[in-house]
Amino acid sequence: MIIQAEHLEQTYISGGRPLTVLRDINLAVESQGFVAVVGPSGSGKTTLLGLLAGLDRPTRGTVRIDGQDLGPLSEDERARIRAEKIGFVFQTFQLIPTLTALENVLVPVELHPDPTFGRRERADQRARELLARVGLAQRTHHYPAQLSGGEQQRVALARAFANEPRILFVDEPTGNLDTDTGRAVIDLLVTLNTEERTTLVLVTHDQELARRAHRVIHLSGGAIVSDTGSRSA
Ligand code: ADP
Ligand code: MG
Repeated sequence: MIIQAEHLEQTYISGGRPLTVLRDINLAVESQGFVAVVGPSGSGKTTLLGLLAGLDRPTRGTVRIDGQDLGPLSEDERARIRAEKIGFVFQTFQLIPTLTALENVLVPVELHPDPTFGRRERADQRARELLARVGLAQRTHHYPAQLSGGEQQRVALARAFANEPRILFVDEPTGNLDTDTGRAVIDLLVTLNTEERTTLVLVTHDQELARRAHRVIHLSGGAIVSDTGSRSA
């Protein structure tokens, strides 16, 4: 299992009072799995992704990536694991405004702990290829402010693949896209899963995308209320 979560709880203090937004989440994802997380707004989907990716620490419980418990690790150690193994696409994209599309895509390559990984020609070529695959071959030198919301989202997707992560987390990948572009992004995600063997965990409201997943986890009120289609069950 490439991801294992046990008894995860996330409680925020809000207005001086504790607010539990995830409770007793138990989840294991097999390598090369394709999991869609669905559920109403506020059900804890984004929070869950952040915990599984090691971006945030849970109030309780454990997350293991590739067998390694993230709990005892320092912020730097977790950052290193993310740089090496994890791609993440945020709902808000989080592109760097002073860098072009191509430069944004190259950021994770430069952060990769293995210095031979980012050898310039190969990294540059892969970054251009990824931008082409998301339909942005003609936008490599555009800055985020010169791109539409959907284009920025696709740059964020290309950036998340750039370090060839074993696990890719994506929050609402088709949320800002028109039908045709959305379909192209879905096809790309499926290709990454089947051909590049990337484990995919994504949050979506898109029925078409959820249907392509191997497994659908439904969150409600911070708990898993159903988990269907698991091949490892
Ligand atoms: P979803 O992605 O399913 O819409 P989220 O995981 O973003 O849900 O949020 C779940 C709940 O946690 C929401 O009620 C949200 O207001 C609350 N929440 C999220 N982040 C914080 C935070 N940093 N502090 C306080 N409450 C938060
Ligand atoms: Mg969300």
